[in-house]
Amino acid sequence: MQQNSDDDGDLDILLPYRSRIVYSLAVASLLIFLPFAINNLLQGQWLLAGATSAIVFILVFDALAIYRGRQLPIPLWVLVFPVIGGLVATTLIPFYMGLAWTYPALVLFCFILPRRMASLVAFLLVLTVAILSALLIPEDVRWRVGSRLVATMALTALLGNIFLGIIADLQRKLRRQTIIDPLTDAYNRRHMDAVLGEAIARAARGTPAPSLLMIDIDHFKRINDQYGHAAGDELLRQVTALVRREGRSTDKLFRCGGEEFVLYLPETDAAGARIVADGIRSTIAKVPLLPGVSVTVSIGVSMLQAGDSLDDWLRFGDEALYRAKESGRNQVCSRESAPLAGGLTLSASG
Ligand code: GH3
Ligand code: MG
Ligand code: MG
Repeated sequence: MQQNSDDDGDLDILLPYRSRIVYSLAVASLLIFLPFAINNLLQGQWLLAGATSAIVFILVFDALAIYRGRQLPIPLWVLVFPVIGGLVATTLIPFYMGLAWTYPALVLFCFILPRRMASLVAFLLVLTVAILSALLIPEDVRWRVGSRLVATMALTALLGNIFLGIIADLQRKLRRQTIIDPLTDAYNRRHMDAVLGEAIARAARGTPAPSLLMIDIDHFKRINDQYGHAAGDELLRQVTALVRREGRSTDKLFRCGGEEFVLYLPETDAAGARIVADGIRSTIAKVPLLPGVSVTVSIGVSMLQAGDSLDDWLRFGDEALYRAKESGRNQVCSRESAPLAGGLTLSASG
């Protein structure tokens, strides 16, 4: 089984803040761009007036849609076109300092586009500015001004990218903390409810039913009492590692109580789940997990049945586990079945 990971790839990290960002940008565009657009119109700079008005229109239109609780009617990446158009247009007015608008544009795209797309657009913007500088800045200052514009813009884009990288990293760490048990590195109970809930929904849509194993360390309290809490903690880590080694990459392990684990087996029927369970039970009974301590586990197997709620699914697993304990521990019992595997009932001994 893989280490727990919740890598979301190129996650759109600012998505939850999109409404706030679009509102602020819409207001800013009305206050800043609208006067420019009107001025451009009055001066007959049609291209620049068009580009500026398009930016205002897109942002205000989207903000109004969000206000009405609708999806964004115009995807924000569409802003790339009026922004680049505006940059080209501003250089047609013989004063190249209009290119300074590139700085807020670089930051803007960090806020409204997913990270990789923002980097691509930043590259396009800096390239556009480099070409415009070469074509339009007067020759005597072309190199001095052009190189500084391009260098400072590239730096702005890089800083924006670093900023987004840090936010993504913090977000990943925070998410990890909410779903991972820090002692064993298995997923925690809260995440279990979410994952098993999704599994039930998937099964209801017709995918092959999953199973779960309720794994409980036998006489764990005795191990704690005899060898100390630190040894108990170490055993929890060892059991987690061993169960992970036995599982497949698609299985997920949750620590849902003190010394109780749930292994979720997607698309696994009762027979398949019993085979996995007995493999885990017999390996734990064989492998010396703590020096001088014999450790066993009892396992309840519960395959999801049609109509099961999450509570039902877990309860049947619990009942099977209870029967495994009652039958002498170091046993595997399936939902409504007799004990499957027998072994030594002595579970923790010095
Ligand atoms: P059974 O075979 O019936 O499962 O008996 P048991 O002793 O394993 O079960 P019981 O529920 O009586 O004891 C569980 C113990 O687990 C009690 C508690 O002190 C211990 N425990 C709970 N969380 C932790 C933990 O994080 N670390 C350690 N070391 N012990 C823990
Ligand atoms: Mg126990
Ligand atoms: Mg227990």
